[in-house]
Amino acid sequence: MNFASHPHLYIRQNRQLEFMELVFATNNKHKIEEVQQLLKDKFRLLSLQDINCHEELAETGNTLEENASQKANYIYKKFNANCFADDTGLEIEALNGKPGVLSARYAGEEKDSEKNIEKVLNELQASKNRKARFKTIISLFINGKEYLFEGIINGKIADKKHGEKGFGYDPIFIPDGFNKSFAEMTMEEKNKISHRAFAIKKLAEFLNSLKN
Ligand code: IMP
Repeated sequence: MNFASHPHLYIRQNRQLEFMELVFATNNKHKIEEVQQLLKDKFRLLSLQDINCHEELAETGNTLEENASQKANYIYKKFNANCFADDTGLEIEALNGKPGVLSARYAGEEKDSEKNIEKVLNELQASKNRKARFKTIISLFINGKEYLFEGIINGKIADKKHGEKGFGYDPIFIPDGFNKSFAEMTMEEKNKISHRAFAIKKLAEFLNSLKN
């Protein structure tokens, strides 16, 4: 039997195993890697690709909560699989919380990180207030119920890009207490303090408590 081509069976068969399988409703390999590292071996993450879901999931909500919920709920129902989804926004104080829920497509539908960064830096050119925060919301659908988890990291927006690592707005975000950007940190360093890490830690604590 080729389980990969029968995602429902694949998930059910492995429920007997020591680890818990969870779908992370994303195809962003970078994020899967980041999160898998935080969850260690207790959980086995499946990407959308792993369950043969090749659609781009709708994110039509007005808030991070609505978007995360929309994605996780869609997979939970369609694939009958325990699932979580995240949605993240960069909230800049001087821009009244923008780009926020629009972070991915701030400079246009092509979701180009370089253009997004350029737009933010232009808009903040005359601003002394560089305060910003990343916020992640995770929606988990498990055994018929939804749970939400939040992670926040405060920081500031740099005057220009620094570093090559990471993704998205990492080169211009300097977390409080550091003098380097997320893009100058290793994945291990970033994972200790990132918005997504905080949200995932809450998720992991919750999942651990469920298993006891
Ligand atoms: P998503 O909800 O995780 O897809 O994130 C929305 C947008 O925020 C994306 O365009 C990313 O570029 C940006 N973003 C999310 N997480 C991070 C991060 O850890 N560092 C930098 N940018 C991020």
